[in-house]
Amino acid sequence: MIAARRPVQARLFDRSRLPDPLTFYPAELGALHGRGVWRSALCPFHKDSRPSLRVNVQTGAFRCMVCGASGGDVLAFQMQRYGLPFAAAAKAVGAWNEGHHV
Ligand SMILES: [Zn+2]
Repeated sequence: MIAARRPVQARLFDRSRLPDPLTFYPAELGALHGRGVWRSALCPFHKDSRPSLRVNVQTGAFRCMVCGASGGDVLAFQMQRYGLPFAAAAKAVGAWNEGHHV
């Protein structure tokens, strides 16, 4: 692929800089419950009274067993939770090469 023809967001977005789900989710949601890859937390997408949101601490994927909110990584979470477009969410989590021409 010719770099100059790639979409701007593909050049500026750096997936390798997405935060570790194991530290990102506790910062966003409070303590995670359980052990293993999939853990539970209070869901921010509906009025949750018990931990209904399942988060994968390796991939960042998430799925709520009650309201059905779901996504594949911490970036999708950031976009949905804060209503952000792709670039703004990537900047917010530090995965955007702002000012760096790569
Ligand atoms: Zn939910």
